[in-house]
Amino acid sequence: MTDCIFCKIASGEIPSTKVYEDDLVLAFRDLEPQAPEHILIIPKVHRKSLLDLRAEDRNLAAHIYVDVIPAIAKDLGLAEKGFRVVTNTGAEGGQTVGHLHFHLLGGRSMAWPPG
Ligand code: 5GP
Ligand code: ZN
Repeated sequence: MTDCIFCKIASGEIPSTKVYEDDLVLAFRDLEPQAPEHILIIPKVHRKSLLDLRAEDRNLAAHIYVDVIPAIAKDLGLAEKGFRVVTNTGAEGGQTVGHLHFHLLGGRSMAWPPG
């Protein structure tokens, strides 16, 4: 999508600090980190939110959860102490960028419930 910030980051048009990349997925540091480690994981294909995923995305979604998130968490040294994965969805969910992304937050204790 031409006017999507995260599509532009995925294509390299907007720079980002990458921590992981493969054919399907990019992960980069959040511009305004909310924890010592705050990574955004995005599919390279444009999907607005979790609600926009289709049957053909089943392998992509599994890849993100089974392969990518655990690998990044281990690389950043978060596996032992723990971390949080958040996907804000829609207005009341707090989603501000309309390209599906998974926040990986770690390096401090997290509060519950979230604000
Ligand atoms: P949301 O509020 O949609 O769940 O999360 C969007 C996230 O994207 C926010 O944490 C925000 O700081 C981050 N963000 C917005 N624009 C950019 C950008 O251009 N580069 C990076 N690295 N992060 C961004
Ligand atoms: Zn996009």
